[in-house]
Amino acid sequence: MRLRVLGAAAGGGFPQWNCGCPGCRAVRDGSRPATPRTQSSIAVSPDGDRWWLVNASPDVRTQLADAPALHPVGDRGTPLQGVLLTDAEIDHTLGLVLLREGGGVHLHATAATHRTLREGTGLLPTLERFCPVSWTEVVPGADHDLGGLSYRAFDAPTAKHDRFGPPRDAGGTATGSGAGRVVGYRFTDTATGRVAVYLPGVQALTPEVLDEIAGADLLLVDGTTWHDDELVRLGLAAKTAHDMGHLHVGGPGGSLDVLTALDLPRIVYVHVNNTNPILLEDSDERAEVEKAGVTVGHDGLELEV
Ligand SMILES: [Zn+2]
Repeated sequence: MRLRVLGAAAGGGFPQWNCGCPGCRAVRDGSRPATPRTQSSIAVSPDGDRWWLVNASPDVRTQLADAPALHPVGDRGTPLQGVLLTDAEIDHTLGLVLLREGGGVHLHATAATHRTLREGTGLLPTLERFCPVSWTEVVPGADHDLGGLSYRAFDAPTAKHDRFGPPRDAGGTATGSGAGRVVGYRFTDTATGRVAVYLPGVQALTPEVLDEIAGADLLLVDGTTWHDDELVRLGLAAKTAHDMGHLHVGGPGGSLDVLTALDLPRIVYVHVNNTNPILLEDSDERAEVEKAGVTVGHDGLELEV
């Protein structure tokens, strides 16, 4: 299978329009080496001819323009077969509206994500005013065949707070209907059996999540921040990465330590927030990631599994 990182940054991109953090400043003024990145999304294909997006970011128009394999076929054709969603975050779904010219959008989403898009953010009714939308329900744990490629979604632990999410009990735990609110995808090439896992949003690397990652030939994983309290330290937000349903990379218990111990052939950080110093190419943190044999994902990164 082939994969292309369309956007390697978290929500807001790199630089973010209203952010003056050290990384965003560096990429604007060139004072330190840093490469701009668009918002989080990948494309995946079994054969290079048929492609599926995983998430549709607000930057989808430029992401498709920059990807020759995703250019139109004939006068008005597209290699795009559909869009798989990991969740209903606006940064992962706003691009659906920008795909309206395609004559219809085919969504793969869990029931929880579908419900949030319809009743919470209202993005689905908006999209349906512009083009037909069809839906394949993604059921965590169940295999779904795309022809040459199959996927199995799995539940990713997420933050308790979700203003659009399904009901929670008094302790903040999502009730039964909360399952499927955030998922990762495990893709298998049906010809070779090789596996790629895409997990751009996960709050904790629990034993269940590590089981889903096990044996993958490629892991594309949440690299949101370096420190868990990075946004707090910078005075940009009151929430930690964990509070927002994401991982931190550095330090004891950070994802770099945990994931490199798994001995996977290839790990790529995606969904990297603009505050994360691994985006600064001369930083100690970037050097530490690279020394561990892990890639900091960038837009346009092509991977074959
Ligand atoms: Zn910033």
